[in-house]
Amino acid sequence: MVTVRVPAKVNVQLGVGGVRPDGYHDLANVFFAVALGDQVTATPGEGVTLSCTGPDAAAVPLDDSNLAARAARLLAAHHGLADPGVHLHIDKAIPVAGGMAGGSADGAAALLACDALWGLDTPFETLLALAAELGSDVPFALLGGVALGRGRGELLEPLPVTGIFHWVFAVADGGLSTPAVYRECDRLREEAGLGSSAADIPDPDADPALLAALAAGDPVALAAALTNDLQAAAVSLRPSLAATLRAGTEAGALAALVSGSGPTCAFLAKDADAATTLAAALRTSGTCRTAHPTHGPVPGAQVVSAPRP
Ligand code: ATP
Repeated sequence: MVTVRVPAKVNVQLGVGGVRPDGYHDLANVFFAVALGDQVTATPGEGVTLSCTGPDAAAVPLDDSNLAARAARLLAAHHGLADPGVHLHIDKAIPVAGGMAGGSADGAAALLACDALWGLDTPFETLLALAAELGSDVPFALLGGVALGRGRGELLEPLPVTGIFHWVFAVADGGLSTPAVYRECDRLREEAGLGSSAADIPDPDADPALLAALAAGDPVALAAALTNDLQAAAVSLRPSLAATLRAGTEAGALAALVSGSGPTCAFLAKDADAATTLAAALRTSGTCRTAHPTHGPVPGAQVVSAPRP
């Protein structure tokens, strides 16, 4: 039996370019791995089977569309294993369809867990390449820490960070579809007369002030530099998020932003105590389902000695 712990991500910068001819958007995406995470346990089995526990378990598909199952099959195919056998159990803490790349995290965890269970010893660079085939957010879940993602987000450059930053994540009821949020972003740009193609919207670039704040370990400077080009689209599709963001700001957050494509909202706190107080205030605000204090950056997917009880 092999258990892998894997982090969720928040995008501390999500710069979205115009739509490319292939339908994707160019991104300047600064990923930040947080301790809020899933655990995936691989045990020997017949074929590839799945189970899932956690508050959002009912929303997780247990068929071949699950990224953990796809990861197991992809790794087996890469090594020419005709008849892979594994049962994958997902202990899910990352909100589903919440903009924190939970499915991608499980894909990364399954790659690592199956690699260990099957004794394949796949080089890390190969695991990263397989991860990129599974989806643009999967390589970062293997890498962890903080990294700049270019292209669709899959070309990763690790970034220097000092110290630990404290966060609170406010979980909404129900998810948002990432493709729908990108479409809404394009629609809002068209409506504003900006155009939505790659020819209309300048290529996004990493913000030097944000990179300096991360390198200096300065939460106040990071708070001032947080940006998410998908935020307006997520709030347009889910107007109640405006109240969640406001509740966190009024309760003392250094900054509030939608996490990725939402609807989870992320709040930066000045320290661990402030994060605990902020999470309690958000839980009683009536503007979210629950709120979790956490911290980061943390490493990417890692084998742990035993699953959490
Ligand atoms: P991202 O931020 O990468 O766009 P997300 O965090 O918004 O993603 P996920 O939790 O990854 O969203 O789920 C998106 C959809 O992917 C779900 O609605 C579900 O149908 C599907 N899915 C596939 N595998 C998983 C998985 N292991 N866990 C959760 N959802 C999964």
